[in-house]
Amino acid sequence: MERIAVEEAFVTAEIASEWKKVLASRFVEPGFRMMGESILGDDPGAQAVHSRLLDVGAGRIAQMDEDGIGMAVLSLTSPGVQVFDAITASRLARDANDALAEAVKAFPSRLAGLACVAPQNSAGAARELERAVGLGMKGFLINSHTMGEYLDDMKYWPIFEAAEALDAPLYLHPREPSPALVGPMLDYGLYFAGFGFAVETSLHAMRLIMSGVFDRFPMLRIVLGHMGEGLPFWLQRIDNRYMLQVKLGAVKQLPRLPSAYFREHFVITTSGVMSAPALRLCIDMLGAERIMFAADYPYESVAEGVRFMDTVDITPDQRTSIYATNAKRIFKLD
Ligand code: CA
Repeated sequence: MERIAVEEAFVTAEIASEWKKVLASRFVEPGFRMMGESILGDDPGAQAVHSRLLDVGAGRIAQMDEDGIGMAVLSLTSPGVQVFDAITASRLARDANDALAEAVKAFPSRLAGLACVAPQNSAGAARELERAVGLGMKGFLINSHTMGEYLDDMKYWPIFEAAEALDAPLYLHPREPSPALVGPMLDYGLYFAGFGFAVETSLHAMRLIMSGVFDRFPMLRIVLGHMGEGLPFWLQRIDNRYMLQVKLGAVKQLPRLPSAYFREHFVITTSGVMSAPALRLCIDMLGAERIMFAADYPYESVAEGVRFMDTVDITPDQRTSIYATNAKRIFKLD
């Protein structure tokens, strides 16, 4: 069985050390402070994850062999460069893309890459995306908000213009919720991956839809992890209540229904969700051809993700699509 996993994380030593500087400063975002304490701490579990993130060489390939993963599409782990000032972020994005391109060059049949860009400088991000695609990157990844801002703000649209021109899908990956959203999520740990990440990222996706960005960039394609961050479940109700708001004059009418933008411009991945009912709902709502397998290494158990996808009650054709065919088509993998 051919298995391609498309949301697989790495980090560079320099970015991890720059995160520690931000975490030690007075101006750290509340969500990132909580994240940093858990992922960059001295806990042996956190250290094991960290050393796996740093390895994009033989150790990573050996683990893929053990887990039965043929190809991993790698990306810089959350929150990437989005917590730095624009100059630092742009430099580190470039270095991360160079490091990733080298890793892919060493194992071209096993690894592919999604580029990192620094939205803090959107014109620079557009240029870096073009450079990174030239290095062989198959798309790019942004970890939701940047300093509390979302990509529906037109100042970020040069990034979409480049993405469309380069036919590069944007993986809109989660991170801890923006400062304006995170407050009531801090005390019970709800800011984290089980809930807050999906609230943050689904909000971001809905902001993109409602902003009209897909009318301006009709070829733009977005990838959402974690079974679409919950949105496939909500689509019918989102349309229904949107239509009421349009009727009341409370929101501007878009040329199409929100769900129509979602079905045309978004594809989703299974990362971190091992639930047969959730997968069946996504297949019902979107079709198996809009779903890709992702393991979310090293944060999730790849063995568990593979066991789920190998045995879940779907047709052999659906399994083949989700495991391999869709990723090859969407990311133009060779
Ligand atoms: Ca992830």
